[in-house]
Amino acid sequence: MSTRGPRLVLLGKQGAGKGTQASRIAEHYDVAHLSTGDLFREAAAAHSELGLAAKDYMDRGDLVPDETVVGVVEEQLNHDYRIRRGFVLDGFPRTRRQAEELHRILEGHPLDLAIDLDVPTEIVLKRIAGRRVCSECGTVYHVDQPPTSSVGTASGPSTDSGRRSHSSPAGDWKCDVCGGQVVQRDDDTEEAVMRRLELYEIETLPVIQFYRRTGALAHVDGSAESDEVFKKLVETVESRLDREKP
Ligand code: AMP
Repeated sequence: MSTRGPRLVLLGKQGAGKGTQASRIAEHYDVAHLSTGDLFREAAAAHSELGLAAKDYMDRGDLVPDETVVGVVEEQLNHDYRIRRGFVLDGFPRTRRQAEELHRILEGHPLDLAIDLDVPTEIVLKRIAGRRVCSECGTVYHVDQPPTSSVGTASGPSTDSGRRSHSSPAGDWKCDVCGGQVVQRDDDTEEAVMRRLELYEIETLPVIQFYRRTGALAHVDGSAESDEVFKKLVETVESRLDREKP
């Protein structure tokens, strides 16, 4: 493994598994996992000014305005230490302008890779329809997997306090990790999901083109089983970091 942590962006449609994989990669390399979606959800739950500003956009499946998002990311990355040590950005950049602003913020410490986690639309639609999240800690579950307590195979809490996807929570839909209520995301309604996919085509495909031009783009097939996708992601990152070694 390389001696320094990577500076990564994870791109992909909603439901592609960005949150889950970003959390695993950040843990693997011991770098920060920054999810703009999580930051906005936390702010909305805390009824902060930022949360109130973002919530309506989120519930409709619309994008929060660029100035707001860039401000939040800049604040999070505005520690030289974090930029040098590495990070995984999840859900940002989502527009061409955000990609350009990120380039400015990182001045002198360019991204190692922007990885497009590629999953066909019919698969992400299925994943999102069954997705449930803990309203407290954000752990992701899926309705297709039976609650651990009801089938007698409880494996105990995950050691990953972040977004790793694992079996459904115990019978009453309390989170295995923190005991919080497990719910459907406000923006996982059919209408909002269709809007987010539409915006992905319009706003986020140009981001992929942007990174293709800068030479930072890599593709990983995100439709395989989670562990396999993770392995492929790490291989992709390692080969890039090896190539950059002096
Ligand atoms: P996510 O959890 O990444 O699907 O984000 C949930 C919602 O937060 C999105 O549908 C947007 O409303 C908002 N959001 C998150 N990241 C961004 C971003 N980079 N730009 C604009 N809006 C964002």
